[in-house]
Amino acid sequence: MQRAKRIAAIPPYLFAEIDKLKAAARARGVDVIDLGIGDPDKPTPEHVVEALAAAARDPATHRYPPYEGLSELKQAIARWYDERYGVKLDPENEVLVLIGSKEGIAHVFWAFVDPGDVTLVPDPAYPVYRTGTLLAGGRPYTMPLTPERGFLPDLTAVEPEVAEQAKLLFLNYPNNPTAAVAPPEFFAEVVDFARRHNIIVCHDFAYCETTFDGYRAPSFLATPGAKEVGIEFNSLSKPYNMTGWRVGFAVGNKEVLAALSIIKTNVDSGVFDAVQLAARAALTGPQDIIERMNKIYTGRRNVIIQGLNSLGWRLEPTKATFYVWAPVPAGYTSKEFAALLLEQAGVNVAPGNGYGEQGEGFFRIALTVDEDRLAEAVKRLRQAGITFAGKR
Ligand SMILES: *Cc1c(COP(=O)(O)O)cnc(C)c1O
Repeated sequence: MQRAKRIAAIPPYLFAEIDKLKAAARARGVDVIDLGIGDPDKPTPEHVVEALAAAARDPATHRYPPYEGLSELKQAIARWYDERYGVKLDPENEVLVLIGSKEGIAHVFWAFVDPGDVTLVPDPAYPVYRTGTLLAGGRPYTMPLTPERGFLPDLTAVEPEVAEQAKLLFLNYPNNPTAAVAPPEFFAEVVDFARRHNIIVCHDFAYCETTFDGYRAPSFLATPGAKEVGIEFNSLSKPYNMTGWRVGFAVGNKEVLAALSIIKTNVDSGVFDAVQLAARAALTGPQDIIERMNKIYTGRRNVIIQGLNSLGWRLEPTKATFYVWAPVPAGYTSKEFAALLLEQAGVNVAPGNGYGEQGEGFFRIALTVDEDRLAEAVKRLRQAGITFAGKR
């Protein structure tokens, strides 16, 4: 059987080896503390589940949904953006409902990238920016994210010929996997860069509401001129503990959304109306879940950061996302260190190189287990003699 060349272009799944080690440890009876997966552990709010149940009982929801999304949901999204980020959107042509933001992120490349076209993608990053480019036959150009620059790409380091060729630029703040945040000045620089080089900006705002210690993350679209150059992907998944529901949206530039919509009308038929009505209930109903979850993540963050710092790391408290991105001790690769944690402490973390070459030398912890388990993980590291200075 001959697979399409576009599949061969996809890099091998870098977590495969660590997943095997994790399964083997579990088979040996090890009580593995899994800090590898970024998926909220708490349930969706009850009123959202109720809204789904009620809507599912209404036969009016049982037919094909409208392609671009239910008007009721698009209006709720526009209001939510205005209230939270001060961004005005026309619900009819500046909002597009997606089957989770991942779907839209993967498809936007098909709308703008022809074979051989260049995209600008950060590294480390959510892998879909790179693989989405490759599937469309494009060439991803890496923008390294380094601790020295606060994990913001250096746009002045993009060679002029590359900038001239590039069709799309992807960004994600608050950032997965580094937990970095972007100041509004950086977004202003992005708008200027995109205008000068005629590049479409796609900002992934998946962690829009997962913020701590009074920090509020700005929407890229709140930057003057942003709507002329780009769109923002957003999702119910992380703020409302709804990863399994598969509902997200893109907002912003209407020509970009119209092109993405052409791909979608030929690939899918939208999100179940009942799920869209439940999403509207999440956006318009009680919002206490956001503060409640952020308090939980803050407590967990403190346990991990204080815990790792007591073992020799020097991590600053993160302002957003439910991740901690930490360097591995000298003498280890990311993969070796992740394997060591699993073998000697029964703790699973994500090796940083799974998010790109620049992630080598780091590991990612997801704060999606309870505080006592995180404290137990730190205790096991201490008992195994694992510190930032290396192995005892
Ligand atoms: C979780 C995540 C997504 C995908 O979210 P869905 O809406 O569930 O598809 C997109 N981008 C980043 C950076 C994420 O971490």
